[in-house]
This record gives sequence, C-alpha cells and structure tokens, in this order.
Amino acid sequence: MALGNYDVVVIGSGVGGLGVGAILASREGKKVLVAEKESFIGGRILSYYGEDNKLWIIDKPYTYKEFTHALGSTGTWIAKSEPDFENVVKNGMFNGYLLDGGHGSFWGDRGRISFLMKWLGKPIYMKVNKGFAVIDNKDQTKWYQIEHGQPYEWMSDGGKATRKLLREMATWSFEQIEQARGSLGDFLRERDCDEESYLFIRNLAGSQTALANPDHMHLRDFLKYQAIAKDIQMDLISGSVATMDGIGLLDIAVQLRDLIQEHGGDVITESPVEEVIIENKQSKGVRIRTSKGVETVEAPVVICNLPPKDAFKVIPERHFTADFVKEVKEKYYIPGLLTGSYFFKKDYKKDYLRLKGIDPRSFIFLPGVSKKKGLESLDFVMCSLPSIANQSPRGINGFLFSIPLLDHEMRDKNRVDTAINEAERFMTDNWPNWRKELLFQVWTAAAEAFGHWRPLGAERPDVKSPWVDGLYFVGDQYGEKMWGGGIDGAALSAALCADVISGKDYEVQMFPPYHRSSW
Ligand SMILES: Cc1cc2nc3c(=O)[nH]c(=O)nc-3n(C[C@H](O)[C@H](O)[C@H](O)COP(=O)(O)OP(=O)(O)OC[C@H]3O[C@@H](n4cnc5c(N)ncnc54)[C@H](O)[C@@H]3O)c2cc1C
Repeated sequence: MALGNYDVVVIGSGVGGLGVGAILASREGKKVLVAEKESFIGGRILSYYGEDNKLWIIDKPYTYKEFTHALGSTGTWIAKSEPDFENVVKNGMFNGYLLDGGHGSFWGDRGRISFLMKWLGKPIYMKVNKGFAVIDNKDQTKWYQIEHGQPYEWMSDGGKATRKLLREMATWSFEQIEQARGSLGDFLRERDCDEESYLFIRNLAGSQTALANPDHMHLRDFLKYQAIAKDIQMDLISGSVATMDGIGLLDIAVQLRDLIQEHGGDVITESPVEEVIIENKQSKGVRIRTSKGVETVEAPVVICNLPPKDAFKVIPERHFTADFVKEVKEKYYIPGLLTGSYFFKKDYKKDYLRLKGIDPRSFIFLPGVSKKKGLESLDFVMCSLPSIANQSPRGINGFLFSIPLLDHEMRDKNRVDTAINEAERFMTDNWPNWRKELLFQVWTAAAEAFGHWRPLGAERPDVKSPWVDGLYFVGDQYGEKMWGGGIDGAALSAALCADVISGKDYEVQMFPPYHRSSW
C-alpha cells in the first residue's frame, strides 16, 4: 500500500506514541499514522513468551537472532543465562513462560496507564502484588514481612526516624514540591539522615526511579510519589506493582494500535522514519523507509516518540537551539535496569520466599545488599512476578531481581558480572542448594530502560517544540509539567501532548487529580 497523507504522523510506537495517537484518532477524529522502525510495536515494554519451542512477541514467532535484535532495539541484551537461553527455548524449557523484561507497572490497576486505557474504552487487566518485605542488610538471611503500624524490626530505632522523614515528605504542598530543584541526596543530607534510614529511602526511591544513587534522583519527582500516597490509597504493603499475563504488557500496545485502526488510522512496522520534513520553521511531514523505498508522507502535525538523545536522528540539530543540543548530548543521563529471573520446580514445602516466612506476592527490598567495593550504593528489589500474574507454567516457582545501573555502568561487563555475583552470593547465603534445584536463569541488561533524563535542576523538554510549528514530542521524559517516569510517565505525556494539540483538557477527564501534572 502506498502511504497517503495524514492529519498526524507519530514517529515510534511506544506507549507515548500509540497513546497520543489513540487519543487523537478516537476523540478528535484525526487520521493518524504511527510509523515504527522495528518489526513489533510497543517499544520498551517488550514482553516475550515461549510456545512450540520458539520465542514469540505478540503473535509472531522470532528466531533467536531476530529476538536478540528486537531486544537490542530497546537497548537490552542477555547478560547471563544458564543454560544458554537459545537452548532453553529450543529445548522447550521456555514453553509456557512469559518474560516482561522485569516490568512491574507502578500503582498497578490504579496507575495512569490503567486509567488511560479505561477512558479509551480498552481496559487492560493488571494483577497487583500484595505485601512488602525487607531484608536486613547486616544479616542478609533475616527477612521481615512488614505490617501496617508495626516497627521496622531490622532498624535500631524500630524505624521511627525513617517514618518521620517519609511523613514529612508526604506533607509537602504541591507548591512547595514544585519549588524543589535539588536531589534526594541533598534533601537527606540536610536532615542528617542516619545510615539505616538512608539505605531504606534510597532503596524505596530506587525502586521508583531506577536509579541507585540519591544524588542522581530528582527530589521533585520523588516528593510527588510520596505526596500522592494518601490519595491513591495504595502503599507498599497493600500493593504497589502489577504485571500482566497473556502476551504481557505488550497487550497495552495492541489495544492502542487496534483503537487507532478502528478510527481509520494506520500503524506500520519495519518502517523507520528517516527525517522530519521542516520548511520555514514549520513541519510538513516525514520521510519513511518502507519495503517500497523511501516514501514522503505529508501531515500538518508530526509527533516524535523518540527519547531526547535519539530525536536528533530524525530531526536535524539545526531545528533546536545549540544550547539544548549541547545539554541533551552532554548532560542527559540514562537509568537502566539489570533484571535476573530464576525459575525452579515448585515444591510447596520449599517455596523460596515462604521458606523465609514471606508472602510470595510481596515486593521485597534489599537495601545496601552489596558490600563490594564500587558497588556500595547497590540496592536490589526482588519479587516473584509469577506469583502475581500467570507468567510461568503451573508448578513453577520463580522470582526476579531488579538492579538499577546507569547506562555506562551497564556497559561495563565487570560491574554487571559483579552485581550478578552479588545476587547469587545473596541466594547462596539464603538457600545453599538453589543451584541444584534451578531449572534455568536469565539476566537481561536494559541499559536504556527509563529513558533519557534531564540533569538536576533542569526542566524536561516540553511536548511542543518551541522552535518548529506543528512538531511535538511524547514519551517517558517529555512534558515540562510531566512527573514520574516509565509507563505511567509515558501515559501522562500522551495526555499532555494530545491536550496541547487539541486545546482540550483530556488529562483532567482521564486521570484522578493525584495523577495529573498539577493537582
Ligand atoms: C527492562 C525494562 C524494565 C522496565 N521496567 C519498568 C517498570 O518496572 N515500570 C515502568 O513503569 N517502566 C519500566 N520500564 C520503562 C518503560 O518501558 C518505558 O518508560 C516506556 O515503555 C517508554 O515508552 P515511550 O513511549 O517513552 O518510548 P519507547 O518505548 O522508547 O518507544 C519509542 C519507539 O520509537 C521507535 N523508533 C525509534 N527510532 C525510530 C524511527 N527512526 N522511526 C520509527 N520508529 C522509531 C522505537 O523502536 C520504539 O518503538 C522498563 C523498561 C525496560 C527496558
């Protein structure tokens, strides 16, 4: 099919790109084209499963080579697997398993993405965890299931100082939070935070921001997470993260794609945009490489869903200010996630988390788990996703580790290997026989998991280009008023982008006050 002309062209089919496309197609009657460079839609929410001794993404089998290419397009590679993951798949050991890349969607079915999907008439079914546990960092064989109002037993003051700090954060007004420009590290230092509180809050913030070091964390974003805790009526004990079964989180992308198509739009894959056409500071459309060669598509509105550092690949740098280009190239940083998934044959007497007296649906913090030189700031998060959604065959016991590393740290093989060895040292301390009982394990290193973050003190790039008319941006790091990140950040960004284009207030219609850009 030759591509015609459209009202809106979206470059990239991430949650942000498909989200804004779906809003504009279904609510504004716009003819939307989403052009995706890869063979699958959904971008970084890439989930995959095993069936018939093959790997599948959505509804298509992938050879192992195609699969590693797909992973690579999201900045991810396999850091370790035992046995070799290709053989795990070929020998049918992966049949019936689903891997969501370690995603645990914030706030579960009370998250922004669930509200967006419900509002669009395409509800998704997220399974939310329940329970929260913490591991003593001095004696890592001691695990604590945390209950409401009970002391934090591993802390010398029962957690009084930590709770006081968290309470203070939760009482800041929106106006105060808006003024906060520094890092969480500065905030904790100003309050002479003791080491136990520091480790715990660092782990808490790390699980939301995918950053290990509070000096890298934007205080404003973290305070907003704390401030909504009361309104959202959700905390780490009642449940905080969710997963999906079936085809995994990619179902979000499928539903959004279907909605665009139901409203006369098109979503095309294997069609990289090569360049946005800009004349006299006005965007006119895009040039797309398709199987037919390079095609020109005209559209008065072009929306770029590429993370800031990548946007220059399709929009020549001269269409931004030199200062902006310099800041993005030199100062933006990229949080990544190292995720290890372990699977065992289920033996109810030997369920690994129950053996520790922990509800297997719990979200588990390992503050300061590593004492290795150079990795002192490393906290882990652990949970058993198969206990939340059906992500492995019946009778299989599994859990995963999630470890934040910056992208340059992730590309340092030594550092990654040491982090994995620390996770396994921790396992051996707790379950000396785990290796004998292991079916398989796979570690994925996602160097660009949480997008390209602006430096501390700076604003995010806005959803509307101040330099080119008709050019917009969407994704987990766009929107001056956007806060948070990940899937929910991309969902809010989609609403903000649709509002600027349409002049409507869809953000207010779809989200409760605490999820909005201002409340
Ligand atoms: C391993 C991992 C774990 C994560 N864990 C969590 C989690 O627990 N919770 C959470 O909320 N978030 C998590 N995230 C982050 C979350 O997946 C992202 O924040 C979100 O999916 C980003 O969506 P986006 O719309 O900003 O862009 P992206 O998903 O980056 O989409 C951009 C799209 O543009 C396409 N593209 C690039 N160049 C071109 C071109 N030239 N032409 C056409 N298309 C192009 C890309 O292929 C991609 O599909 C995780 C990410 C990873 C990788």
